[in-house]
Amino acid sequence: MKKTRNTRQRGVILDIVRASCEHPTAETIYREARRVLPNISLGTVYRNLNFLRDQGTLREIRPSEGGSSRFDGMDTPHAHFHCLRCSALVDIPLPPALESLRFEEEEKISAVSLVDLHVIGSCSGCEAAAAN
Ligand SMILES: [Zn+2]
Ligand SMILES: [Zn+2]
Repeated sequence: MKKTRNTRQRGVILDIVRASCEHPTAETIYREARRVLPNISLGTVYRNLNFLRDQGTLREIRPSEGGSSRFDGMDTPHAHFHCLRCSALVDIPLPPALESLRFEEEEKISAVSLVDLHVIGSCSGCEAAAAN
C-alpha cells in the first residue's frame, strides 16, 4: 500500500516537471502537486526530486548566482540559457561544435555522461525592456 502511494507521488512529480518548460523549483512543483495530491508535503516533494535526480531521471540545475535549484525533465542533451534579470531558464540546443570537442588531460576522464553548458546573461525580452 505504502509503495503504491510512493509510486503515485513520484509519477505526479515527474509529470509536473516533464510538462513544464520553465524548469520549475521544488516549491513550484509542490504547489502543482497539491492540486492532485492535497496531502503531499514539501519534504516528500524534495525526497522524490532527490530520488529522481539520483536515478538520472531528472536533472537538478543550480543557478550559479545562487537561488533555488531548478528541475529539468527533458532527456535529450541540451544547454541552458539563464537570464540574470528575470531568472528565466530556457533550453537551447547544444552548439554542434561541442560534438567535436576535445578535452585536455583526457586521461583523467573514463566516461562522459553529460556535458553541462550554462549560458548566463540577459534575455532579449529584458534587453528590449531596458532599452525603452
Ligand atoms: Zn530576462
Ligand atoms: Zn533544460
